[in-house]
Amino acid sequence: MDAAEPVSAARQVLRRVFGYESFRGEQQDIIEHVIGGGDALVLMPTGAGKSLCYQIPALVRPGTGIVISPLIALMQDQVDALRALGARADFINSTQDPDQRRTVEALYLAGELDMLYLAPERLRLPSTMDLLDRGRIALFAIDEAHCVAQWGHDFRPDYLALSALHERWPDVPRVALTATATPATHQEITGRLGLENARHFVADFDRPNISYRIVPKKEPKKQLLDLLRSEHAGDAGIVYCLSRASVEQTADFLVTNGIAALPYHAGLDARVRARNQARFLREDGLVMVATIAFGMGIDKPDVRFVAHLDLPKSVEGYYQETGRAGRDGLPSTAWLAYGLQDVVQLRKMINSSDGDAAHRRRQGVHLDAMLSLCETVECRRTGLLAYFGQERAGSCGNCDTCLNKPETWDGTVAAQKLLSTVLRLAKERRQKFGAGHVTDILLGRTTPKVTQHEHQTLTVFGVGAELNESQWRGVVRQLLAQGLLTVEGEHGTLVLTDASADVLRGTRKVPMRRDPERPAKTAGSRGA
Ligand code: ADP
Ligand code: ZN
Repeated sequence: MDAAEPVSAARQVLRRVFGYESFRGEQQDIIEHVIGGGDALVLMPTGAGKSLCYQIPALVRPGTGIVISPLIALMQDQVDALRALGARADFINSTQDPDQRRTVEALYLAGELDMLYLAPERLRLPSTMDLLDRGRIALFAIDEAHCVAQWGHDFRPDYLALSALHERWPDVPRVALTATATPATHQEITGRLGLENARHFVADFDRPNISYRIVPKKEPKKQLLDLLRSEHAGDAGIVYCLSRASVEQTADFLVTNGIAALPYHAGLDARVRARNQARFLREDGLVMVATIAFGMGIDKPDVRFVAHLDLPKSVEGYYQETGRAGRDGLPSTAWLAYGLQDVVQLRKMINSSDGDAAHRRRQGVHLDAMLSLCETVECRRTGLLAYFGQERAGSCGNCDTCLNKPETWDGTVAAQKLLSTVLRLAKERRQKFGAGHVTDILLGRTTPKVTQHEHQTLTVFGVGAELNESQWRGVVRQLLAQGLLTVEGEHGTLVLTDASADVLRGTRKVPMRRDPERPAKTAGSRGA
């Protein structure tokens, strides 16, 4: 570095206001570009430091930085944090009464705000537009910009109106930021916000210190306990569960087994939630058992593991949640246990969710991508980064599939047996049969349901004795992941897809991954 180089305004603010010595990654380039009046699209993983990319330009440029954020619940915290640093920040949203709102408006008009946070639905109002016109705008920051994209996991129609900003204020720089970098989302943000001429800053999404592991779910709580005892004794970590009930049960289970765990979910009293969160941040070695309601805006550098006891709904979600591990750069674990039941349950949730068919289809696509990450025999990191449009060559040596290359087997015949059973059952139109019943037929079990429907007379009855029950469940899971089978309705009925016919006809082979009998341990076992 050149010692004679004058210290830029941006660096002064970084040191004086934020107390940091140096910029991270591309922060400096982004900040200088926006200070100079340029538009920017910033794709950076959670925790990489996106906020400074608009906060510093807002402080350096004359006028007020307008920050558009959908996270109303976090605005107060963000504003408090900025004020604690001596910046003049405020927000306008639906939680305020008219008096409070008018006070903030007056501050803005008097030029006494460095940053003003707004929810997108506010910004749309003509009255807000007029207000902004009467003051001086330093920049527009569009946080969580993926909300503009239909392909994003939390699309918000309000965001579409943001395309009007550039027409109304062509000279005000805009910086759009998101942690979702799939090529489809990237393209949609660019198009919808008119950022074709903006500079695009795409960070490296790899988190090399995180070891990714995905194991078949057997006795999840016990598997979790084994992991914590053998590899993460005394470490701080987060355990994600799908439901509030399983959060409670899992936290109780861990506490009973001598692990300092706390629950966190939206059903808990706000005070309890705040207290548990504060303890997790402050004390060492606590395990937070939580729904995904926990974690947004949490910045704890020494989270040593993130465990998922249920399958995340999308790769974006998985990446964001696991990304809370190891922000200090030290080795950390991302561990996920998943089973057939997860797939069936999430499909049922999608099938019965509100919203139109297109919305359900999108959710289905997101789930499929997550499933193929789970079932891959290739490097998990490579798969994960490819999802975000980032190519990487070779094996990473720090994920379960790299450390213990999964065996594959030719599952074509098994797939044919299973699919023909599903096909046969589909002829009984009024009846709906799930994975359990299909497996019973293949194994030749005369359960009450089998005899009731006289399924012991089917030609496929008992043809699947070469595999055991858990192996058949693995077959169903992998057929679902490969799009050769799907789940319909609210009862988890298995149905064929268009692609199934190729397998039944014998024109398509079905390679399958052999589930390890015991969850593989990666650390310390065989080299890469
Ligand atoms: P993101 O919005 O990308 O998820 P944040 O902006 O919340 O990330 O930043 C994550 C954490 O990193 C914050 O605590 C922030 O203060 C810190 N941080 C950001 N930039 C730097 C930097 N240049 N040096 C040190 N810490 C930083
Ligand atoms: Zn790998």
